[in-house]
Amino acid sequence: MNKKVVIIGGGIAGLSAGIYSAMNGFDTEIIEMHNVAGGQCTAWDRKGYRFDYCLHWLVGTSKGAFNAIWKETNVINSETEIIDHDIHSRIIDADGDEFIIYSNIDRWEKYLIEISPEDKTSIQRMCNDMKKSALIEPFTLAPELRSPIDYIRILPQMLPVFNVIRKFGRLTCKEYFDTLNFKSKKIKSVFFSLYGNRDFSALAFIFMLGWFNQKNAGYIKGGSYPLAQRMVEKYIKLGGKLLYNNRVEKIIAEKNVAKGVKLTNGTTIQADFVISAADGYSTIFNMLDANYISKEIDFAYKNWELFTPIVQVSFGVKKIIPSEFPIIINIAKELSIGSTKLDNGYSVMNYAYDSTMAPEGKTAIVLRYDSPWKLWENMDEKKYKAEKLLIQKDATACLEKIYPDISKFIEVIDVATPLTDVKFTGVKDGAYEGFMPSKDNMMKSLKMQLPGLKNFFMAGQWLFPGGGLPPSAQTGKWAVQLICKKDNKQFISNK
Ligand SMILES: Cc1cc2nc3c(=O)[nH]c(=O)nc-3n(C[C@H](O)[C@H](O)[C@H](O)COP(=O)(O)OP(=O)(O)OC[C@H]3O[C@@H](n4cnc5c(N)ncnc54)[C@H](O)[C@@H]3O)c2cc1C
Repeated sequence: MNKKVVIIGGGIAGLSAGIYSAMNGFDTEIIEMHNVAGGQCTAWDRKGYRFDYCLHWLVGTSKGAFNAIWKETNVINSETEIIDHDIHSRIIDADGDEFIIYSNIDRWEKYLIEISPEDKTSIQRMCNDMKKSALIEPFTLAPELRSPIDYIRILPQMLPVFNVIRKFGRLTCKEYFDTLNFKSKKIKSVFFSLYGNRDFSALAFIFMLGWFNQKNAGYIKGGSYPLAQRMVEKYIKLGGKLLYNNRVEKIIAEKNVAKGVKLTNGTTIQADFVISAADGYSTIFNMLDANYISKEIDFAYKNWELFTPIVQVSFGVKKIIPSEFPIIINIAKELSIGSTKLDNGYSVMNYAYDSTMAPEGKTAIVLRYDSPWKLWENMDEKKYKAEKLLIQKDATACLEKIYPDISKFIEVIDVATPLTDVKFTGVKDGAYEGFMPSKDNMMKSLKMQLPGLKNFFMAGQWLFPGGGLPPSAQTGKWAVQLICKKDNKQFISNK
């Protein structure tokens, strides 16, 4: 008889763990609390429009270890169409002026030097750091399975990246910008408004454009929902089972060995191995009653800042609105939407470049802004309804600033709040990408195994500050590598 792996959560980490478990000959069952898989990587349909919640960029669309995972899990196959945008984003600065971030670093460097010739040296230094960062190559093997040779092998290629990490690994964006000492008021104010006003890691900023520059962080046509569905298809084809609409309440541990899970309806499911790809806090502190905690875990959950949740206002517009820029970020100060004062402005994503997002002749547009969890956590139903109405009105006015007169053509408005995310995915405090990557945690990760608990593994975005689809899928794969090792099986990644 095959051994059984039970996986909590059918997000990208859970689906990845499911696919690799099934590939490696385990009986596999994913328990998902929602009626659809994908977790944060999702979208919803309203009157013919599709409103996407997640996908803008997927690291690994063209090469490397992440690319291998996307191919192995059917995220990328011969039919997927990848779109590499020339422009990363258009910023409207505090004075209402335009500022462009190009995906190609050479082009961006030229643009920045045109804006501020006197900053040439600083601009070139920053762009060089970004180019070097692109040489980073993710590991295929779980940390526990790597030998010193695995590290030595990557050394020559990674040396320039190590230098960037050594120099800036413990700096915030603000500190990094200070070292660059830009003279241009415009460059300074845009950079500081976007990344400088919080404890955001300099490396996260540097690495982001490095991936784009290599055309290895594209958008996949169709977006988040079909991406997750392709993984579901692969998983089911390999013989995996997916139980929807069921929530795990407890992880069963007997004599410190994970033995299965108990659902909120009282049902128990026995297993030889348990992987939790659900929210990290609920797994450790609720499903396992905080019985298996290391100093590092305790510290991280007490001290590491979480992503500020977002409000997403989606618009169905009965007209083609051409999209020159995949994202427009308006960083104007003194703006509010509903009860939220916008410290980081708002962003607008016009999906005209993806014909699957709206009926012919129409356009799906999404507006997003950060909104602190404390505003939402105790909101009663009456206030919530009123807040959503206010958001619709204010967000429409914001959209008008970018597309004057658009109101006449809006036929659908949909508001998703941090409470929506928590309701459907159980994510802690609406922190949709887990821990914020800061100067203190950017170079850290949490272990996949908990101290004292055997046959149990964590996977997903809560292991790596910054989260994202690649580490989620990668840790799903790693969890199965560790299970295979324990079960004396040769791990395979292709079937
Ligand atoms: C607005 C937005 C934009 C983003 N943009 C990008 C991007 O462009 N590129 C990128 O790489 N990443 C992006 N991300 C991040 C990415 O979506 C996440 O990091 C990733 O999807 C997390 O996957 P996960 O499987 O670790 O966790 P989740 O997606 O949170 O999955 C956890 C799953 O577990 C289920 N679950 C929870 N508790 C239980 C329980 N008790 N019982 C059963 N099931 C349970 C949930 O329903 C969910 O399906 C974005 C996210 C958001 C929200």
